[in-house]
Amino acid sequence: AEPRLVAVRATRISPRLTLVVLRDITERERVEQMRRDFVANTSHELKTPVGAVTLLAEAIESAADDPEQVRIFSSRLTAEASRLALLTSRIMNLSRLQAADELTDERDVAVDEIVASAVDAHAIQADSAGVTMVRGGKRGLYVRGDAQVLGEAIGNLLANAIAYSPEGSNVGVGVKLSEGVVEIAVTDRGIGIPEGDQERIFERFYRADQARSRRTGGTGLGLSIVKHAVQRHGGEVTLWSRPGKGSTFTIRLPAIAPPDDVPKKPKRRK
Ligand code: ADP
Repeated sequence: AEPRLVAVRATRISPRLTLVVLRDITERERVEQMRRDFVANTSHELKTPVGAVTLLAEAIESAADDPEQVRIFSSRLTAEASRLALLTSRIMNLSRLQAADELTDERDVAVDEIVASAVDAHAIQADSAGVTMVRGGKRGLYVRGDAQVLGEAIGNLLANAIAYSPEGSNVGVGVKLSEGVVEIAVTDRGIGIPEGDQERIFERFYRADQARSRRTGGTGLGLSIVKHAVQRHGGEVTLWSRPGKGSTFTIRLPAIAPPDDVPKKPKRRK
């Protein structure tokens, strides 16, 4: 965007010379606009499940004499309520990531631990989708940051990889070290992402058409959270994908030396 300059201070130095301090307000306006969009989008996205919950509750009330109907409406109500819970928790996480300047809980994080717990947390989802998660790559790597935030980012990639994969396929999580950078790659052999959507899927609430029709449970916030979480840690997330072939999302984070209290691998004696 073009810089928009406003004068914030003017000091007369001599009769012919005045010093003017200018500030570029484009960035501040951009942030402000983003915040307004976020509130507007969020309210819009919340209206649908809130409306559904209300309608289903009313339907249950008026179907009180018909146990079968009550059962059907109740299970749909439960599904809508859990979708609403997921949506609100993601909205809160995202706005926290966007708002705070500092990570609250920064420490040396063992990559193995956050990957393992993200994999564990998605075991049930993978199981019911008939997808096998395969972990591999380098062990013993560390990054600096908030383990919970990073774990959620990896978890969101896993949740997507599983959700957009066919039954019987594998989802891989690989870790490697490349020139001082830890790379965590989540690979699936699923539906893939059309070229035209690849840049936009990291935007809030953006979902590719195929995903919309396939999975109504999505929030469109998962990748936006991944992007913000990783950027917060001085890293980046990139995507490779071919429709019909699959996708690989790679998180890159600056590696740090293992903390002192971690026993170094004993050197094997010759
Ligand atoms: P959602 O809750 O819809 O999955 P995300 O922000 O996590 O929201 O993802 C945004 C969109 O990116 C998805 O709706 C889907 O279109 C696409 N997407 C994300 N991950 C994958 C994947 N592994 N395979 C295919 N499409 C994906």
